[in-house]
Amino acid sequence: MHKYRIMAPGPVELPPSVLSAGSQPMIHHRTPQFRQIFKDVSQNLKHVFMTEQSVLVLSAGGTGGMEACIANLTSPGETILTICGGVFGERWAKIGESLQRKVIRLEVPWGYKVDPLAVAACLKESPEIALVCGTLSETSTGVIHPIKELAKVVNGSNALFAVDAISGLVACEFFMDEWGVDAVVAGTQKGFMCPPGLALIGISEKAIETMKSKQSPKFYWSFEAALKSLKADALPDTPWTPNVSLVVQLHQALELILKEGLSNVWDRHLLLSQALRSGIEALGLKLFSNEATSPVVTVIRTPEGVASTDITKKMLNDWGISIIAGQGKIKQEVFRIGHVGYCDRSDVLMALAVLEVVLKELQIPISLGSGVKATQEVFLKSIQRG
Ligand code: PMP
Repeated sequence: MHKYRIMAPGPVELPPSVLSAGSQPMIHHRTPQFRQIFKDVSQNLKHVFMTEQSVLVLSAGGTGGMEACIANLTSPGETILTICGGVFGERWAKIGESLQRKVIRLEVPWGYKVDPLAVAACLKESPEIALVCGTLSETSTGVIHPIKELAKVVNGSNALFAVDAISGLVACEFFMDEWGVDAVVAGTQKGFMCPPGLALIGISEKAIETMKSKQSPKFYWSFEAALKSLKADALPDTPWTPNVSLVVQLHQALELILKEGLSNVWDRHLLLSQALRSGIEALGLKLFSNEATSPVVTVIRTPEGVASTDITKKMLNDWGISIIAGQGKIKQEVFRIGHVGYCDRSDVLMALAVLEVVLKELQIPISLGSGVKATQEVFLKSIQRG
């Protein structure tokens, strides 16, 4: 028998109260009862996005939210700049191309953060760029991009700035209004500790104004329709039937996040990532990236002589722990351990202890317990600091 545990960068495990919120009897989405819940959710989302502006709730995965941003904020034939330093930066480019935008790819070597000056140079060379698309936490490489600095650069141009914060929001410091980001996409299955299925999109007044002149075929994804319902006179609403159960679960999860306190949640993610990183390095393993490492996921180079899937399969089949292999061109080169959402110090210690056994079994020359010890020391220090 194994207990099944997820230590992936999403979907994540659900807190018991979020789990049970999903099994409540269905409520009709046009009732005052649901609309009051939706009102609370919309309000609390503003807090998490650090915005006074609107946060739209679409029944879609994160990719749907990204597509909706390009569809609403630009017209076919317009130019967008996509910052490509991993699978998800590349996803912006693929969406743009499939929606017939002219895509300029700013290629960033995987494992490195983008240099804002490179974005400034692209904007100078191509002033027709209507939208810059970036990523907060690049889940495929474990890199955090400098969104605050990028926003400064983009705000000095004619373009809008859209950020994929699907894995990063809630886990990393993020200030939508203060930094001046125009569209922020999040998903429910990571920091928000809910099942996958809602795209949450913070949208600036500037973006709302700009999108009025855009002509792009869309119906279900219309931000205009979503905004109209959100600002309905009595209580906020959605234009189409939303994923009711997920909204109810999100309501519960937001209460947990706000009760813990957003800055405490950020600190928790940071501590978990620092502790795991120390343990991994103490084992003699190498991180994929040494700069701007994400509090969401630790991306580890696969030791020589094995494939990443040898490790992930053993973790899952022998121990019941879901960690995951790499993505895209680094699928076998790395494996990834997530520590986002409903995750604590014990989860990290347990995953690392199990990883040590698995590596030893695969004949990787590590010293049992040395990773765990380093991680324990980080936790101990943080307790002593108080
Ligand atoms: N962007 C990032 C940074 C992600 O981590 C993910 C999901 N792993 C996505 C986009 C895509 O989200 P979804 O799978 O919900 O479409």
